[in-house]
Amino acid sequence: DDRAPIPVLSPLARRSRQARVAWGSHVVTVGGDAPVRVQSMTNTDTVDVIGTAIQVKELAIAGSEMVRITVNTPEAAAAVPHIREQLDRMGIDVPLVGDFHYNGHRLLTEHPACAETLSKYRINPGNVGKGEKGDKQFAQMIEAACRYDKAVRIGVNWGSLDQEVMAALMDTNSHRAKPWDVKQVMYEALIQSALDSARDAQSIGLSANQIIISCKVSGVQDLISVYTALAQRCDYALHLGLTEAGMGTKGTVASATALSVLLQQGIGDTIRVSLTPQPGEARTQEVVVALEILQSLGLRSFNPSVTACPGCGRTTSTTFQELAKQIDDYLRAQMPVWKSRYPGVESMKVAVMGCIVNGPGESKHADIGISLPGTGEAPAAPVFIDGEKAMTLRGEGIATEFQTVVEQYIER
Ligand code: SF4
Repeated sequence: DDRAPIPVLSPLARRSRQARVAWGSHVVTVGGDAPVRVQSMTNTDTVDVIGTAIQVKELAIAGSEMVRITVNTPEAAAAVPHIREQLDRMGIDVPLVGDFHYNGHRLLTEHPACAETLSKYRINPGNVGKGEKGDKQFAQMIEAACRYDKAVRIGVNWGSLDQEVMAALMDTNSHRAKPWDVKQVMYEALIQSALDSARDAQSIGLSANQIIISCKVSGVQDLISVYTALAQRCDYALHLGLTEAGMGTKGTVASATALSVLLQQGIGDTIRVSLTPQPGEARTQEVVVALEILQSLGLRSFNPSVTACPGCGRTTSTTFQELAKQIDDYLRAQMPVWKSRYPGVESMKVAVMGCIVNGPGESKHADIGISLPGTGEAPAAPVFIDGEKAMTLRGEGIATEFQTVVEQYIER
């Protein structure tokens, strides 16, 4: 047999510069050899100091390693140091990122405490201002970043693309023998706007290491096209996200699809999943989805994973679905305490299976697994630990007994 073995795939690595996003002694590195970082954004009015601090705390506890807040008015800028104070009091050291549009130059200049408290500034070149005035306003923001040693994300967005860059590229395109598709012109405009601004920021004095770039669009194929080209044309750290991904399943699936294709190619140093929360849905859902994307790709481990079959006509009851959910909820709830107590617990794999067809096999591949009895099978549930059959559970209390076995395994 001279067939070559099938390659075992894993995400590629793209060499990028490394930015430091810090609050006090807590430093979150982005790019270089750092793991892909998760970030999110509040949807509270930043002037509401307590409400914003509580949401930042919730997002941080859910796993967000940086949290962006809107800084859109003098009142919001004035609130930023107070939000930080509240977080420090709560023991939350997650770095805060300020989101600036239109008036960022004034807010950062006139509110030095805000400029100093934020750990990173997001600047959108599409609405920083036009001509000489715009250049001056951009320079004021970059000078603040240099003065306070902050990282800057130059965040271009399809919905607020610099129209001067777009118009100039459309003009050039009209003179081509074979004009580009309008979409291709837009891709180019997004990338050019970001890279021109990054070059300008460097000429003002900002270190290339402290620049992070994003070019967000809302279409999956568009995002893949833009970031594939962007990654080839610079070595800045890249912030990745599908903007305005949408609500619920659609937003989750679209984000996971686009981000996974790019992350597999090593593109993306920090991610945000921009979900529109459905009524009653927690803001933290976008962080949960971001963590799952990274864990599913094998890029990071955050929580023990529970493998569960979908169930079918061979399943005798809903016990296994309930058990899978119960175990999953239990493991997630324990993680804040377990993370420090049991190093490596986040890599653990638990299998909860519905019958003998795939049950024993999946259970053996997990650290600990159970195969519940399916239709026509003896009422017994073998439990496998580290690949070996360890015991058989029977009767009504299988779910509770298995949870105890999992707890004992983790403690051991
Ligand atoms: Fe159905 Fe059994 Fe497969 Fe689960 S393991 S999906 S119950 S055949």
